[in-house]
Amino acid sequence: MSASPVWHPFTQHGLGEPIPRIARAEGAALFTADGRRIVDAISSWWVTTHGHCHPAIMAAIAEQAGKLDQIIFAGWTHEPAEAVAQGLLQLMPNELTRVFFSDSGSTSVEVALKMALGYWANTGRPRHKILVLEHAYHGDTVGAMSVGARGVFNAAYAPLLFDVETLPFPHGDGSTTLEQLTALCREEPAALIVEPLICGAGGMKIYDADVLAEMRRICTAHDVLLIADEVMTGWGRTGTLLACEQAGIVPDILCLSKGLTGGAMPLAVTMATEPIFAAHLSQDRARMFFHSSSYTANPLACAAAAANIAIWQNEPVLERIGGLAERQATQLEKLARNPRVANPRRAGTITAVEIEDAQDGYLSRLGPALLSRFRQADLLLRPLGNAVYVMPPYCISDEDLASIYDGIEDGIANC
Ligand SMILES: *Cc1c(COP(=O)(O)O)cnc(C)c1O
Repeated sequence: MSASPVWHPFTQHGLGEPIPRIARAEGAALFTADGRRIVDAISSWWVTTHGHCHPAIMAAIAEQAGKLDQIIFAGWTHEPAEAVAQGLLQLMPNELTRVFFSDSGSTSVEVALKMALGYWANTGRPRHKILVLEHAYHGDTVGAMSVGARGVFNAAYAPLLFDVETLPFPHGDGSTTLEQLTALCREEPAALIVEPLICGAGGMKIYDADVLAEMRRICTAHDVLLIADEVMTGWGRTGTLLACEQAGIVPDILCLSKGLTGGAMPLAVTMATEPIFAAHLSQDRARMFFHSSSYTANPLACAAAAANIAIWQNEPVLERIGGLAERQATQLEKLARNPRVANPRRAGTITAVEIEDAQDGYLSRLGPALLSRFRQADLLLRPLGNAVYVMPPYCISDEDLASIYDGIEDGIANC
């Protein structure tokens, strides 16, 4: 038996790989109990935006911890939740007037799907079909898996997953995707769910903002709801607060999590337009929105989110992001000269490349080899198959950023 009883996510314990123990973090750095300094090149799985242990966010959590830990959110409220909701209304598009709290990206997607079906059921036009994009990832709960790409990650659970219609990933002008979307919209689906501009876990695949704008137009024309899952892309990752901004669109339902608390606490929101809320508004209790989790809008998590929103409102975060995007572009340009690097691409602060190898896909042999090489180099980088991506906290220094790309070059040379 291994020393620890902990069963880790997306980890094959049978491979016996070391599991470093992190004691402390600051900015873009993680520190192990035995004193190693590790550069966090993937923002601790895409959550840490401004940097680890941001003083204002930590102080807000500490202050809240002295006042209120937890309170049922069905029929009760509290100051941090109200502050988050008001802050989101100021920051996010005006059309999104309602804020529903949950605790993770996956639950924010489950909530979005239930809101969409609830909207159609409550307005007397039941619709059930969900349209999705090839390579999509929306989380690991059963509903979220159903609207995500099928593969080795969910093959064992396939009988539990509901049917969806999958649009081909949009290449170039996306005409094939858009034609299929138009055809499928005639069958009156409930909603289209997309990760705007970039499919993250599906391999950091980027598509054009014009295609996203056209998707919005087609959905509107056919009265199909558009759900934007900005769990990864939200909070500046693609260069704007929301990726949807680059297409000049507003979804009917918006999922936010990961960077909502700056990456400090688990929290999510699903924002909706007024018609979706209004469809649930009635004197009839059978039409309320039937969803909750025990820790909905936990006050400590909300305090962290309120502090994050204040940082966005009071600091030049977009400038910082623009600077990082430029530095990322420079590094990517250099890396792209490596003959084994293919398909270099960037969306705002995120860069990605494929490293050429005999076997492609998530179970590529190269992934684990690179992972262990990166770990030895004190880099937190986690290839998706043979795709390597860099998504650092916005505060990362030039030196640390350069060390990530040096580590990738070294990995390519030695794996
Ligand atoms: C990470 C992610 C999710 C799931 O979020 P969790 O908090 O891990 O449940 C959903 N959608 C997208 C686009 C994500 O990147």
